[in-house]
Amino acid sequence: MNRPAALISGAGVAGPTLAWGLARAGWAVTVVERARDLRSSGNPVDVRGAALQVAERMGVLDALRRSGTRVRAVQLVDGAGRQLARIPTASRREAERQVEIPRGVLASVLYEAARDDAEFLFDESVVALAQDGDGVEVAFERDAPRRFDVVIGADGLHSAVRRLAFGPEDDFLRHMGLYVATVFLAESTPVSRDVQMYNRPGRALAVHPVLGRPTVAFMFRSPVVPGFDHRDTAQHRRLLVAAFAGGGWRTPELLDRACSAPDLFFDAVAEVRLPAWSVGRIALVGDSAAAASFLGDGSSLAMAGAATLAEELAADPGDPAAALRRYEVRHRRRTDPVQRAATRGSRLLVPATAGGIAARNAVARLWSATGGAAQALLARGNAAA
Ligand SMILES: Cc1cc2nc3c(=O)[nH]c(=O)nc-3n(C[C@H](O)[C@H](O)[C@H](O)COP(=O)(O)OP(=O)(O)OC[C@H]3O[C@@H](n4cnc5c(N)ncnc54)[C@H](O)[C@@H]3O)c2cc1C
Repeated sequence: MNRPAALISGAGVAGPTLAWGLARAGWAVTVVERARDLRSSGNPVDVRGAALQVAERMGVLDALRRSGTRVRAVQLVDGAGRQLARIPTASRREAERQVEIPRGVLASVLYEAARDDAEFLFDESVVALAQDGDGVEVAFERDAPRRFDVVIGADGLHSAVRRLAFGPEDDFLRHMGLYVATVFLAESTPVSRDVQMYNRPGRALAVHPVLGRPTVAFMFRSPVVPGFDHRDTAQHRRLLVAAFAGGGWRTPELLDRACSAPDLFFDAVAEVRLPAWSVGRIALVGDSAAAASFLGDGSSLAMAGAATLAEELAADPGDPAAALRRYEVRHRRRTDPVQRAATRGSRLLVPATAGGIAARNAVARLWSATGGAAQALLARGNAAA
């Protein structure tokens, strides 16, 4: 009997996790990834909760722990670089139950776990999907068309599978009133294991000491910018300069770095909401289905969702449409509460007013004095701002 065949679009976090799970269940798996290769850098993300158990089952937990950032605290600084508050990132108990790791390292480790059992095609994308009663015909940018039993979009916020099978992006992305940019610094040895963050009203600038290659994040409040294009780097540089010029602390130096960097990441912070995550034999997982902005547990949810999806398809390969619906019912229980909390977290990271910043800093000082950690404070949400 032929093995059931799955196509996965995207080799980020959800894609390789799903590929590993389906291959273990005997499926023939193909993964297409638009990028030419995987980069081992990226914004730091957290692996925790159900995702830690997934990592353990995949045999990658030790590799993730070895590459963890080991960041200890968040320092809030003023325009002159003076510390206003310092708050541990996680309590000791929380720290034992999670790993913070650059997103690119996480994707590489997951890819290494799956690569021998699945076919990975880089520099490739899906361009058309047509499903009938017993399969999906897929056209690719480069390869000849092929037929699969299921097609899964694990291709992130700007998912091609979602656009092709569910409709235009604007129907599902909700702007969260923030833009974010990240860039890497050349420094090879971090001098600190603290994240440093400087705020002005509606602006936040943070330096994160990631694995010897610090990451800088610029976040600013703004309504939707007319004509915004997440691929237009010249536009991104103009928006950054307009938002951050004149700022204190390390703003001038870091803004220069961002404006000359070839690898500047810039996007609107958005939430993804769809009434259903599958249509027949085509489904979505990770950010493409339910991004909770960068403030949620996106990576952990991507891993946990991919594992649940693999379980359901493995249990019922003869009726993939039913398996995909069961996956959605199970996994929405995790994503719905996280999406609700994300807006509150943004108020603490990027308060809109000077009063909001002062109140947030006061709460942070009090919170850390009583032994509280930043993660718990973010989860509590909007008390300060
Ligand atoms: C600045 C920033 C900070 C963040 N901070 C955190 C954090 O602290 N904690 C946390 O848990 N999460 C964080 N996240 C979110 C986290 O990175 C995502 O939720 C997570 O990566 C989602 O995994 P995914 O596999 O769904 O998508 P992704 O990791 O985005 O992977 C999607 C993959 O699909 C590929 N792709 C895209 N289009 C196509 C196409 N047409 N064809 C083929 N392949 C395609 C992409 O190249 C990529 O490899 C942050 C995100 C950002 C942007």
